[in-house]
Amino acid sequence: MIRRPTRNFKVGTVPVGSVHPVTVQSMCNTPTADAAATLEQIRSLASLGCEIIRVSVDNPADVGGLREICSNSPIPVVADIQFAAEMAVAAMDAGCHAVRLNPGIVRNMETLEPVAAKALQRNVPVRVGANAGSLPRYEIEKRIAAGMNHDDAVAEALCSAALTQCDALEKCGVRNIKVALKCSSVPVTLKACRKFAGMTDYPMHLGLTEAGTPARGVVKSAAVLGALLLDGIGDTIRISLTGKPEDEVLAAQRILESCGVREAAPEIVSCPTCGRTEIDLIALAEHVEKVVCELKAAGRKIPHRKIAVMGCPVNGPGEARDADLGIAGTRTGQLIIFRGGQVVLSCGYEEGLARFTEMLLG
Ligand code: SF4
Repeated sequence: MIRRPTRNFKVGTVPVGSVHPVTVQSMCNTPTADAAATLEQIRSLASLGCEIIRVSVDNPADVGGLREICSNSPIPVVADIQFAAEMAVAAMDAGCHAVRLNPGIVRNMETLEPVAAKALQRNVPVRVGANAGSLPRYEIEKRIAAGMNHDDAVAEALCSAALTQCDALEKCGVRNIKVALKCSSVPVTLKACRKFAGMTDYPMHLGLTEAGTPARGVVKSAAVLGALLLDGIGDTIRISLTGKPEDEVLAAQRILESCGVREAAPEIVSCPTCGRTEIDLIALAEHVEKVVCELKAAGRKIPHRKIAVMGCPVNGPGEARDADLGIAGTRTGQLIIFRGGQVVLSCGYEEGLARFTEMLLG
């Protein structure tokens, strides 16, 4: 896949931009002032593959928590600033590795200049995060009055708001800028990101906002991020969900793997089940996913390209013959394990799970 060329820089220790891998982000839902709870969540997310974390910073108590978080976080920390631009300056002094500004809220040069000066002094990148919900209404209405349809008007207003803030930061000498353009609509986000990607060389952070509960939000996010990533657009991603941040990280990785942006290592496939299914395949597939995830989180190497979890021993091994390693259940409650379509082991359920875990590692 050919990535859209962008400028490249680092957020803390993590490189960002088109010559580097697309990275996974999430956002803590703990109060930033509660450093212990936030650090616990960051460590949990990092163990699942989160590479950059964002925390909200709204007041001096948050800044106090942020200082401790930044000193102890295993991954770089982005301070999310909404209403109080002076908090961005305080957050950088507290050691954050990037700041996120909302151009719909932080708008005038007077408030932006001290932030830019501090970003330059501390070599901290700035994420310009435009959000449709924060755009002034007149920015959309004037475009509709000029003949644009609603979606185009929102997409263009998002681009315009981000570009205006990027230009202002550039005037202050800030070059390490990343941009996100978000709304809850898949088509509008797609239009805005494609348009912006064609106009600039800023690295782009992809995601929707208010995407919904995991069942809906993952589908919407996969639709928009899949299209953009396959076009080579996108340098960091977040799957925003009304759910646990852990689910965001796992979903982000699965989207990157599904798009071929990141090697699955290993790819896990499971059959759709049918009337021949002889076992609780959902439980078995979830177990295998969990074991693989835990092994990877523990830094164990799984030397298989593809792993199959199948519902019956009659068709399962044959249907999944291209899998390096597979497991299937039988009507008598036993498990069979197969390699390349050939059964290599048949045993009781618990023993089968244990043997399968061993075979995952070699
Ligand atoms: Fe049905 Fe067996 Fe194929 Fe699964 S592997 S879809 S249970 S025939």
